[in-house]
Amino acid sequence: MSEKQRFDSPEFQEKYHCEIPLGSFCSGRGTEFRLWAPTAQEVALRLYSTDGSDTCLRQIFLSREPRGLWRYVTGEIWDGLYYDYLVTVDGVTRTTADPYARACGLNGARSMVLDLERTDPEGWAGDKAPPLPPETVICEMHVKDFSWDPASGVPEAYRGKFKALCLEDTTLRGEGENPTCLAYLRRLGVTHIQLMPVYDYGSVDEGGDPAQFNWGYDPVNYNVPEGSYATDPHRGEVRVRELKQAVQALHKNGLRVIMDVVYNHTYRPDSWLWRTVPGYYYRQNEDGTPSNGSGCGNDLATERSMCGQYILDSVLYWAEEYHIDGFRFDLMGLLDVPLLNRIRRELDRRWGPGEKLMLGEPWSAAGTAARPGTVLAHKGNLSQLDSRIAAFNDTTRDAVKGGQWNAQDRGFVNGGGLDAGRLAGCIRGWAGPEGPVSAPSQTVNYLSCHDDWTLWDKLVCAAGGDPASPACPPELLRQNRLAAAMLFSCQGMLFFLSGEEFARTKQGVKNTYRSPLSINRMDWTRAWENRDLADYYRGLIALRKRLPGLRDKTPHAAERILSVGAPGEGCAALLIDNAGPDCPWKRLYLVFSVRQDAAVVPLPDGEWDTLADGECSFLWQEPRTLSGAAALAPVSALILGQR
Ligand code: CA
Repeated sequence: MSEKQRFDSPEFQEKYHCEIPLGSFCSGRGTEFRLWAPTAQEVALRLYSTDGSDTCLRQIFLSREPRGLWRYVTGEIWDGLYYDYLVTVDGVTRTTADPYARACGLNGARSMVLDLERTDPEGWAGDKAPPLPPETVICEMHVKDFSWDPASGVPEAYRGKFKALCLEDTTLRGEGENPTCLAYLRRLGVTHIQLMPVYDYGSVDEGGDPAQFNWGYDPVNYNVPEGSYATDPHRGEVRVRELKQAVQALHKNGLRVIMDVVYNHTYRPDSWLWRTVPGYYYRQNEDGTPSNGSGCGNDLATERSMCGQYILDSVLYWAEEYHIDGFRFDLMGLLDVPLLNRIRRELDRRWGPGEKLMLGEPWSAAGTAARPGTVLAHKGNLSQLDSRIAAFNDTTRDAVKGGQWNAQDRGFVNGGGLDAGRLAGCIRGWAGPEGPVSAPSQTVNYLSCHDDWTLWDKLVCAAGGDPASPACPPELLRQNRLAAAMLFSCQGMLFFLSGEEFARTKQGVKNTYRSPLSINRMDWTRAWENRDLADYYRGLIALRKRLPGLRDKTPHAAERILSVGAPGEGCAALLIDNAGPDCPWKRLYLVFSVRQDAAVVPLPDGEWDTLADGECSFLWQEPRTLSGAAALAPVSALILGQR
């Protein structure tokens, strides 16, 4: 039997599956170490006083117990000590940190014993997420690029750190007028902040130049925060406390927090998981080489029971210990459907249905060598996923602005032509009996995320412009506003990259995962210069929360689209049933024009309130009334409501 066959076998699972909490645990009563290493002949624990100390204080052998568990228990309190393991498998001894560590020192190289209670910030027991919002509007951001810009008004010591997320009243250049960072997000009206990876990743030296940048899709310690975002990466308790403080501040400011989790691969194949149980946590091809569906050199074998258990335990840990409100699964198409459904059930059981979000990318970089019969959570299998696990919708993304593979490719808003039927597909989130998903609850609509060009750069490139130019031509701003109006008309969750609302540019660089901060940083001066566009987004977000016809996440949402038409050349219009509690408008009429000149379109019978047009998305606050026909400016949207 090959190693692959052995690890995939029901007998291995039967004998070794183990659901006891793993890791190190420290309280006033003593300290305990538990490691799952079923193939090990010997496991030794080494203790150190600091993360960098060369002197091992003690070496202790763990005892083997049933189900592959190794354990050591002491009445001594070792809170604050650092440790690693020597794990011997098939006569080879490897040094490893604890894959279940919840604290660590510099670069995650050594684990740390930590009494987690002492990391709780003041008031943590009372920390609660804001009430569930009427709509989910997610803004994706990166801890370092968010506050790196000196114009953010964030004090230098906190720039690029978790601590910057705790500052509630920063302003542009500290001048006391125009909000930046947290204050800016609060005003924008988004409901969820999606943090790009904040677990401990490997591509940035935590003790090196503070200006190093990486997105962080390279996990080292899945259950520990990243040290380069902490004010002290050596002392393990600091990063834990500071991330909790950031979550607490976001909650206090009305924002829920989603964590980007990368359970599909590890930074290096020679990870703590590998060193502890060589081979078990990774998929192998038949010839024994590592499977590489992630494009990053290795794939976790989520279908093996203790790998799935590891992922489940990790998600539950972040939700419990850090009060995280949602999880975005990177390359979800590499994870198996039963595991994701199990995570969904466990989150619901512990926190109540709907309280914790789940969303993910329903694809992978390439094929993967999962155990035969494994059902993976890629696009083709979405019908088998729980209807409250949402998938990023690249069909709408590409339809609105053009595909991501070719800079010249155009979509609805930038000269690719407006097809009313295809637009209607976008508006219903591609949900319904013939769609890939049954309900909009499974759809995340977006035009930009950290991957690929920013929306602005895509519009510039498709127009043949120079994305390195700071100019913002009015015709491209019109395209951007129309794209936003389309996005905020789509049924399903809504998502955008931070700064999309102010025409964020990365100077045309498509994959900025390790580009310098001069390209990646949020440019708060540009946010101010393009405040009219940001206000347009702000109005759309506020309006969207008031429109039950578009918020509907049920399998019947598509039935709310009463008619779809093309009321003129270059125009598309949809009549929407908008009936719902506390909403004055029973029907909506959404009109989109991509014409280069003004358009006049006939309206359905009756009087219509103008809720938003191509310039202003706050008209709904004091609507004008129209009947018979309506005029649209070039490349613009018109959103009307009937009482
Ligand atoms: Ca790190």
